[in-house]
This record gives sequence, structure tokens and C-alpha cells, in this order.
Amino acid sequence: MYAEAVLAKRPFVSSDSSLVVEDITKSASQLRGFDDHERIILGRDDERGLTAIIAIHNTTLGRALGGTRIWMHDNFDSAVTDALRLSRGMTFKAAIAGLPLGGGKAVIRANPKSDKTPQLLDAYAEMLAHVQDTYITAEDVGMTLADADYLRERTANVAGTTIGGSGNPSSFTAEGVFLGVKAALKHKTGSDDLTGRRIAIQGLGSVGWSLAEKLSKAGAKLVVADINEARCVEAKEAFGAEIVSTDTILFTEVDVLAPCALGGVLSHKTIPDLKAGIVAGSANNQLLRHEDAAALKERGILYAPDYVINAGGLMNVAAEVEPDGYDKAKVIAKIAQIPTTLGSIFQQAETDNQPTNEIALAMAKARIEKG
Ligand code: NAD
Repeated sequence: MYAEAVLAKRPFVSSDSSLVVEDITKSASQLRGFDDHERIILGRDDERGLTAIIAIHNTTLGRALGGTRIWMHDNFDSAVTDALRLSRGMTFKAAIAGLPLGGGKAVIRANPKSDKTPQLLDAYAEMLAHVQDTYITAEDVGMTLADADYLRERTANVAGTTIGGSGNPSSFTAEGVFLGVKAALKHKTGSDDLTGRRIAIQGLGSVGWSLAEKLSKAGAKLVVADINEARCVEAKEAFGAEIVSTDTILFTEVDVLAPCALGGVLSHKTIPDLKAGIVAGSANNQLLRHEDAAALKERGILYAPDYVINAGGLMNVAAEVEPDGYDKAKVIAKIAQIPTTLGSIFQQAETDNQPTNEIALAMAKARIEKG
């Protein structure tokens, strides 16, 4: 009902474009996932096949930066909810990483394999131009470096491009996750040596694959699953990885589970059956609900909060909008701080007997309050 009401409205129509852009903040505030977001924008272009949501969560610390996810959500509400949750995560990710940025994220409701036409991206570039003072986008699931470059040719508020930018942020994200896995092992076992450690990777996309390369090089034994079976076969050939089904990857007997696909994988349904002692991966919003972290804690599973461990890509794209210009050495140095931040979160969580995500959230909120 909500979706129909929103989609039926057409308050802003540019005279020379089929794109319709409107502010849906008020109606989106009814949805699960809304958390005092500053602004939610809907862009629709029926001629060019675009339905996109840009969610600006909080710009206290600076312009909102966050990628665009291209995914065929089951319905419009779940696409908006995804944008709401992802953008909120970006606010805390930027804050805890010490970046002068706010949180935002976009979702294009489309199948990235079959619907992503140049016309759709043209319409989306027009929509991005509407919010260029508030929001900068980059890659996310379904949006490639080539797509980011295409958009950047049409509007300035795109980072993570090869056009005056630093390229795909995924390998930087993977580096942060790699260091985060080691920090978690160190905290839990006293050693960060990866030799012979069994690590399950759910999703062998841009980040998952790069993480697999790093872990394998460091001596870990990999267990992998991806809905793209060819990718698993490649991982078996490249790293001697054991392939398991997408239904069982979460429940395999491993030292570390690294969710690197979509969010919501840690819930009351999955947590009781997890066999890993550590959960540390790149996926955004791994917890279905914030409270689910308490169940992980009760089971003695150490959880590396997603927006802390996966901040490497954001640190890299953020460097593109630095006044002094992009400096890769500075980015690497910043990513090297991720394990230190995680270490203090793990320590504080233990001292306070709190779930790790509560400590991370308190740290991020304190930074935002300081402004
Ligand atoms: P991607 O689209 O390149 O890869 C996602 C992979 O997951 C694909 O190979 C896909 O086939 C697979 N997948 C989807 N559903 C699956 C399932 N049920 N089981 C197993 N595999 C499944 O995306 P990415 O850029 O590698 O990002 C992965 C995750 O990390 C996302 O949650 C993203 O939001 C998050 N993240 C990415 C970055 C980045 O720099 N790319 C930064 C921060 C967070």
C-alpha cells in the first residue's frame, strides 16, 4: 500500500526529461530501517527503466558518501528498507573511520545482469546530479567500475572511478577485512597466524575473491560458496578451496566465517547453528537486527562489526575527495588502523560485557556528537 501511494505521486517532472524525482522522506519514515534519515529521494523513469532510491542518513560530519546497489529486490518496500539500513551503516562507518563524511546509499531496483542498460544509467546520472551537493556515490553490489566510470562522465558526484579517481575500492575493502580477520584471531586465540586456519567465505565477488587471494597466500584453508558456481570452481583451481553449497556455508566447521555477499545473514534462525568462533567479513548489515549481536556473544562467537572491518573501500574513495587529492600511501596507512580500532572494540566489549556492535555504535555516535 505504501509503495503504491508513493509510486502514484508525480510532484516533480523536468520538462525535457522522462525522469521524475521526488522527496519521499515522510512516507519512508513508516518503514522498518528508518532512523531519523535526513532525506530519501525516489527517482523514476519508466521510459528508461529506472526505479532508484537515494537515502541520505546523516550529514553532520560532511557530504554523504556511499555506493549504489543494483539489485532486484522482491518489492519496492524492501528496496527502500535496504537503502535506509545501508545509508545508516555508512554514517557510522565514516564516523568510526574518522572521515569527514556523512552516510548515504542508493539502491537501483533492477536486475544487474539484464536490466542495466546505458539508458537506465543515463537516467540515474540525471538523478545523481539533483543531489550532488549532498551525496557522492561509488560501487556496490551490482555496480561495476565500468558503470561508475560511465556515470562519472555524466555527473561529478561519483567516486571510485578511473576518471581522476582511484578505481574500484574492493581490494582496499578486502585488505581491511584481511587485517580484521587477523585482529579477531589474535584477540580470540592469542595468535594472528593464518597458517592452516579454516576460513569460510560466503560470496566470491569483488571483495570475497580479493580476500580469498590474501588469505590463501597467508596459508589459510578456504571453504567457499557462491550462487555463481563457476566462481567456486575458479576458487578451487586457484586456491584449492573446498566448495560447499550456499545453504551450508554459514554452518561449516571453520575458525572464521567471512560473509561477503548480502546482508541479514546473522539472525535468530542462523546464529544457533553457526560453527565458527569468529564472524568477520565484508558484507554490509550482516546482522538482521541490531539485537542479534547479543545472541552471538552468548554463544561465545566474536563478531567484528561490519562497518568497522569493511571501511577500507570507503577510506579509499574518501581520499579522492580530500582537498589535497588522492594519496594511496595515506589510504594504506589508514586501513592499517582498522585492526587497532577492532582490537579496542573487542577489548572494551569484554571489559563492559557488551556485544561488540554496541561498543562500535557508541564510539561512532560519540564522534558524530563531537561534530
Ligand atoms: P559483488 O557483487 O562483487 O559480490 C557479491 C557476490 O556474492 C557475488 O559473487 C554473488 O554471486 C554472491 N552471492 C550473492 N548471494 C549469495 C548467496 N546467497 N550465497 C553465496 N554467494 C552469494 O559485491 P562486492 O563488492 O564483493 O561486495 C560484497 C559485500 O561487501 C556486499 O555486502 C557489499 O555491500 C559489501 N561491501 C563492499 C565494499 C566494496 O568495496 N565493494 C565495501 C564495503 C562493503
